[in-house]
Amino acid sequence: MFLDVKDLAVRKVQIRKSYAPGSIDYGISEVKQAEPLEVTATAELLEGQIRISGELETKIEMVCARCLEPVIEEVHKDFDLFYQPLPKASKPEEERLKDDDTEIGFFQGEGLFLADVLKEQVLLSLPMKVICQSDCRGLCPTCGASLNHEECRCERHATDPRLAPLARLKQDWLKKQ
Ligand SMILES: [Zn+2]
Ligand SMILES: [Zn+2]
Repeated sequence: MFLDVKDLAVRKVQIRKSYAPGSIDYGISEVKQAEPLEVTATAELLEGQIRISGELETKIEMVCARCLEPVIEEVHKDFDLFYQPLPKASKPEEERLKDDDTEIGFFQGEGLFLADVLKEQVLLSLPMKVICQSDCRGLCPTCGASLNHEECRCERHATDPRLAPLARLKQDWLKKQ
């Protein structure tokens, strides 16, 4: 859906839309939409700026930072965004706008794509890292076994340094046999 400034200049647009998984490209391979993204919003032109406010809801599949298993993150975000026409040549004073509490973005040309706005909002609401469960044991750094599902053999060999002398004694003893 394209939000055209010319249309918005005439009237407010009520948006109620569902984006199927795969229709928005999040640009990150670890971020996959697992369910339709539902958005309800209003778009309007306010003093030359496009204002989009509303809410979105979806489920995103991410990857556990420890064991690499998929993790579903529920996303529910309210937003109230303003987009200005991209200045022809940006002056230093204009960069200060970012310090303001209101989020201000820019649009180029005739308007902007709703999907781009949604993609940004979803990415902003996701945590940097997810873990499938607080006690996820992750992968064995040596053999790559998923320690949530199996005990790997090398885990036992990666001995507690305090027990190393004991292990050496045992090896020497075995050699003598
Ligand atoms: Zn995990
Ligand atoms: Zn291992």
